[in-house]
Amino acid sequence: MPTPPFAPAARAVRSVEDHRTAVAELLSPLPVEWVPVDRARGRVLGEALLAGVALPPFDNSAMDGYAVRAADVAGATDDAPVILPVAADIPAGRTDVPALEPGTAHRIMTGAPLPAGADAIVQVEYTDGGDDRVRVFRASAAGTSIRRTAEDVVAGAVVLSAGTVLRAPQIGVAAAVGAATVPVRRRPTVLVLSTGSELVAPGTPLRPGQIYESNGPMLAAAVEDTGGVAELLRFVPDDVAHLHRVLDERLTAGTVDLLLTSGGISAGAYEVVKESLADRGVEFVKVAMQPGGPQGLGRVDGVGVVALPGNPVSSQVSFEVFVRPLLRVAMGHPHPERPRVTAALATALTSTPGRRQFRRGVLDAVAGTVREVGGPPSHLLAALARADCFFVVPEEVTTLAAGAPVEVWLLDD
Ligand code: AMP
Ligand code: MG
Repeated sequence: MPTPPFAPAARAVRSVEDHRTAVAELLSPLPVEWVPVDRARGRVLGEALLAGVALPPFDNSAMDGYAVRAADVAGATDDAPVILPVAADIPAGRTDVPALEPGTAHRIMTGAPLPAGADAIVQVEYTDGGDDRVRVFRASAAGTSIRRTAEDVVAGAVVLSAGTVLRAPQIGVAAAVGAATVPVRRRPTVLVLSTGSELVAPGTPLRPGQIYESNGPMLAAAVEDTGGVAELLRFVPDDVAHLHRVLDERLTAGTVDLLLTSGGISAGAYEVVKESLADRGVEFVKVAMQPGGPQGLGRVDGVGVVALPGNPVSSQVSFEVFVRPLLRVAMGHPHPERPRVTAALATALTSTPGRRQFRRGVLDAVAGTVREVGGPPSHLLAALARADCFFVVPEEVTTLAAGAPVEVWLLDD
């Protein structure tokens, strides 16, 4: 069999911004689906959530104690307690609460409905706790220890706006206003496909020249961390016909929102992704960044495709720079970008001109400094795994002194 030629390298260099803009067009906002509130953690509301009931839904007691008329206990002191007959007992959950007659008290628990006629609660600590008759040692002004209807939320009002990320408190209030399901944007399904004939599965002894496949699980985890659903397809060999077959099977099912490939897009021979997809609507370009110069994007069978380089650090950095924002925007996330801060570089460095470098670092947030881990080469995966941030060296900068301010992307959630 003749050996294939080198793949032509993209000549024109595209800016990071231009490539981000192009990638951003691959997905539209995902449709809204209603999911059970207890399954909605981390999802983003696609529509405002309206309150089915007010919060609180009824006037109720904020204390364990006695419901009274303030006027009846106005003069109560330790030395001259007011003694009232206890006419009813109102635990939380009682639905048939009798009205309070003047000159009487109802024993009442926290969260129980305020009886009609009562306008104050005396907490149990200011009484003798009596069952039949209660001695009240303190006055209680009208309104004391009463939680009023709709103090927190008015029935029918927007309780959570579209674009809200559902964390614990938001799940809590959605449940409190009676929502069984919530309208969230669908999670994008991303087919994570890693190519390379040198790649083998863990558990298989490595023959010389083979390595364990790592981009697949790494990128799938990145997709899931971002809130997407990853489908993993690993060990796709550098064989054009094989890749076409796999894609025909997986993309025509209509279940994939985005295809994310790794490997096979550089200037070598055997660049399987480039060779397979260049004629099928994917454009291969060189982006002015390091790591992650070679990039591909387009559509195959109507499905958006982002083709990442195979070097593990390159593929993960590219995911952060291009794919994470794409997925987050599609999910309606209010903060699609990683938080960014400025920190002082711990030690001096040099950088390639014309390339925006995303170096891996560890941030000391207290000192406001960032220390590089591992150095620039894009095969230093363990160093990436020790990093908690990227820091950016702009295209035109070739040297930075210790203490120079750099932009830092925080990678920890
Ligand atoms: P490529 O972009 O296919 O030329 O690959 C560049 C480098 O990344 C080579 O050293 C590959 O062995 C390595 N590589 C590519 N894909 C993977 C992968 N899925 N897991 C681990 N290493 C990979
Ligand atoms: Mg390869």
